[in-house]
Amino acid sequence: MNESVVSLPMPRIARPTVVLEDRPVAGDKRVLLAAPRGYCAGVDRAVVAVDKALERYGAPVYVRKQIVHNKHVVSELEQRGAIFVDEVDEVPEGAHLVFSAHGVSPMVKEAAAERQLQTIDATCPLVTKVHREASRFSKQGRQILLIGHDGHEEVEGTAGHGGDRVTIVNNPDEADTVVVDDPDNVVWLSQTTLSVDETMETVNRLRTRFPNLQNPPSDDICYATQNRQVAIKKVAAEADLVIVVGSANSSNSVRLVEVALDHGAKAAYRIDYADEIQQEWLDGVATVGVTSGASVPEVLVQDVVEALATAGYRDVAEVETAVEDLMFSLPKELRRDLADCDTGGAGGRGGRGQGVRDKSSGI
Ligand code: SF4
Repeated sequence: MNESVVSLPMPRIARPTVVLEDRPVAGDKRVLLAAPRGYCAGVDRAVVAVDKALERYGAPVYVRKQIVHNKHVVSELEQRGAIFVDEVDEVPEGAHLVFSAHGVSPMVKEAAAERQLQTIDATCPLVTKVHREASRFSKQGRQILLIGHDGHEEVEGTAGHGGDRVTIVNNPDEADTVVVDDPDNVVWLSQTTLSVDETMETVNRLRTRFPNLQNPPSDDICYATQNRQVAIKKVAAEADLVIVVGSANSSNSVRLVEVALDHGAKAAYRIDYADEIQQEWLDGVATVGVTSGASVPEVLVQDVVEALATAGYRDVAEVETAVEDLMFSLPKELRRDLADCDTGGAGGRGGRGQGVRDKSSGI
């Protein structure tokens, strides 16, 4: 280990204890916990990458944009010495810079190289897959209809890989008006964290106008987004109320609220922390569904479960629709430097050095 590297303490953001009133309702109170929920492989890898970078290089380590879209995770890493910036020119020349899980455009990488920054690319491999598709279709001269939210970091990064061949389609209504050069030379791609149902509606409406629209080689909406939506659909069908733990800028968390409402939940709310639960949300509620976005640590979900227990919701059952075991190995730059100082760099959280299933090179 480099002697200049300081092993930092692990400060934790204090989370308030929440006590709610236990008001009577018709029927038995219960909680249905959706599974899968919370951290996906790409988020786990990105968060561990910043953590390991702090250990290996010492603070500060710079991160372009939020490493993942979760307020709590960002706050904890800030306390450890991460500095989050919006753009590369805010980083001192030669410093270590981590690219977030949402990915960056080639222009951002060029700007970092010009500043001689030591970059660690924590782009989720499933986002990188979409980048490669965008580059390939662009080189083939195809027009790319990128279904996603204009302004979202992932969409900016993917659009950068497709260059001037990319047109963003924000929603199904825009499918009815988007203009293409050649209807027979159009392919669609998407952001990884969209609603599966809404995206298919957008695609169907595009195909009505452009029958020869080409599909991406494989799903762009990632396994984690899809699995969390499938699980919450099942929970929502039985829930009077659904609580989604996740931050406001987390696309997949916001989608979970929408999906819950579309699939039977009488009400659904997104919160960052358990103390945002409003007592009146529970009025007349027998069954509460709980889930969390792909960037949310499980501890925040357990806080919600504990808060609900104080209101009498002590019967907790998990509704499992899939089992996830995918893991990605750390970014290659970090693996190289960790190997140099012999701390082991193959795995992610919890010493996953063994049994890592690395799909980063296969997609
Ligand atoms: S939500 Fe999907 S694309 Fe985004 S980091 Fe997680 S696995 Fe990767």
